[in-house]
Amino acid sequence: MRTLIIAEHNGQHLNEQVARAVTAAQQWQQPVDVLIAAAQPDALAAQAATLQGVSSVLVASDAALQHPTAEHLADIIVPLAANYTVVLAAHSAFSKNVLPRVAALLDVNMLSDVLEIVNTNTYVRGIYAGNVLATVQNRDAIQVLTVRGSKFAAAATGAAAEVKAITTPAAPAGSRWISEAFNKSERPALTAAKVVVSGGRALGSADAFAQVIAPLADKLHAAIGASRAAVDAGYAPNDLQVGQTGVVVAPELYIAVGISGAIQHAYGMKDSKVVVAINQDPEAQIFKIADYGLVADLFEVVPQLTAAL
Ligand SMILES: Cc1cc2nc3c(=O)[nH]c(=O)nc-3n(C[C@H](O)[C@H](O)[C@H](O)COP(=O)(O)OP(=O)(O)OC[C@H]3O[C@@H](n4cnc5c(N)ncnc54)[C@H](O)[C@@H]3O)c2cc1C
Repeated sequence: MRTLIIAEHNGQHLNEQVARAVTAAQQWQQPVDVLIAAAQPDALAAQAATLQGVSSVLVASDAALQHPTAEHLADIIVPLAANYTVVLAAHSAFSKNVLPRVAALLDVNMLSDVLEIVNTNTYVRGIYAGNVLATVQNRDAIQVLTVRGSKFAAAATGAAAEVKAITTPAAPAGSRWISEAFNKSERPALTAAKVVVSGGRALGSADAFAQVIAPLADKLHAAIGASRAAVDAGYAPNDLQVGQTGVVVAPELYIAVGISGAIQHAYGMKDSKVVVAINQDPEAQIFKIADYGLVADLFEVVPQLTAAL
């Protein structure tokens, strides 16, 4: 049997997490196909075909896939699933929208945010905000899952997999795309940035957040993140929230400024390669996960650090 990866993309480029999903898919030691569903799929299919470990690229093409809905994608994926024992994608807002619907239509379980694939039907997942690792077994004939990209290396490129067009059902009438609004920023995207500087409740105001966090992020070419307390207080916009109910990041360097390190925040950043914490409380939880800790008043040391860089 085979494994099917659902590729996320922006219409022009594959999301870099697709290459990580390809690595995860090698665990089943069976052929791996990648589904590209797009209005103009040729360049995307060519990118997917270069990934080492991909047997073939399936191409679903339809004008409505310029802005695909979960309903349309599920209608494309479900008829394919009979040929597959595994349907997987990297864990993201995109896959969280599509794959539960696929699993429901196939009447099988959905396993989300898998951290480790133990064997062909056994997985490690975080529960209680990642505080407990549960090993779970799924006995369904088709395994539908999302994997945490940061836990798997990206597959190398240089391959030349076969590209095949598939029959694409028309978009269902029940729902349609109306519009989308992106936050435009000169900074790197939070989920892809190599460096993230995050601020917490201790900043005290939106002005202080901007005056203390942004200059340090500028110097480091970093994305800005925030704790939920900072977001709830209006110091930073919602899409910057890192954590269980925000985004999960795993940059090379994560600098937590005035953040206590609650488990819900740690869930979103503890896979970062190097964690630096600045907090005036030496007992703060964040120091337990930090590689480097500075016990200090952030309003003194962050401007000094920024000036020294
Ligand atoms: C269901 C659920 C989901 C949640 N999801 C998320 C989530 O996704 N992300 C998230 O972040 N939280 C989440 N939370 C909230 C989480 O539990 C914490 O409340 C939140 O992370 C705290 O944010 P904070 O660290 O900024 O604030 P605090 O916990 O108030 O910490 C502020 C820190 O700043 C330090 N400090 C104060 N002044 C200074 C100074 N001048 N210099 C240096 N340090 C200073 C203090 O010592 C303290 O450690 C969730 C909670 C629940 C219940």
